Amino acid sequence: MTMIKIKDLHKSYQMGSNSLHVLKGINFEVKEGEMVAIMGSSGSGKSTLLNILGILDEADEGEYHLDGTLIKNLNEKIAAQYRNKFLGFVFQSFNLIGYKSALDNVAMPLYYQGVKRNLRMEKAMHYLEKVGLADWATHLPNELSGGQKQRVAIARALASDPKVLLADEPTGALDTKTSYEVMELIQGINDEGKTILVVTHEDDIAHMCKRIVNLKDGVIIDDSPVKQVRANSATYV
Ligand code: ADP
Ligand code: MG
Repeated sequence: MTMIKIKDLHKSYQMGSNSLHVLKGINFEVKEGEMVAIMGSSGSGKSTLLNILGILDEADEGEYHLDGTLIKNLNEKIAAQYRNKFLGFVFQSFNLIGYKSALDNVAMPLYYQGVKRNLRMEKAMHYLEKVGLADWATHLPNELSGGQKQRVAIARALASDPKVLLADEPTGALDTKTSYEVMELIQGINDEGKTILVVTHEDDIAHMCKRIVNLKDGVIIDDSPVKQVRANSATYV
């Protein structure tokens, strides 16, 4: 089953009279259940690509099919519906709401889906348990460590049971040990069948995925399966 299919994707940013050609004809396909790293140095277009895949931005040229649906010229309301239904996001900077508890942060996407309060809280608690933070439900983000914040963000991304999890440098703000713990969690989610794309510029993190797509100056220079390195506690010494 093909989950993501992109064909000849191009994207430029206009700045005054200058144009920066960031994605220069990207082609790839992601099957359901894959765990793919998108690698490349800073400025290579990783976030631009992920934002297009996440329907946060649109390509100038090319086609994008998500779970068989052509994503094109969507108005903001439909785009938001698709994002909510199909996609879960995890960011380097966690993007939690500071004045809401861990539980309420996780429940947010369900609120936007119109899920009733009781069910919302029940589901949110389920996902907090899944990331090992049931005891921290009532805490605010600033009472949590970086790793715990990212776990809350992962629980929030999973709350609406999206088809694809998109993570942009999810370990970028974490120390190595915490990074590996977060990757262990993400691997476990993929083991259960979730399709996951992880943007990273770190080689060790990329090798914790099952396939590495290498971006350079807006083109894919390599796209290969890799033997997944498990991020268990033995990985980090
Ligand atoms: P990466 O995530 O790989 O570091 P990005 O996709 O964020 O790369 O950026 C690719 C290039 O596009 C960079 O040169 C960046 O400065 C530029 N860029 C990104 N977003 C914008 C924007 N909104 N407007 C103008 N230039 C941008
Ligand atoms: Mg980036």
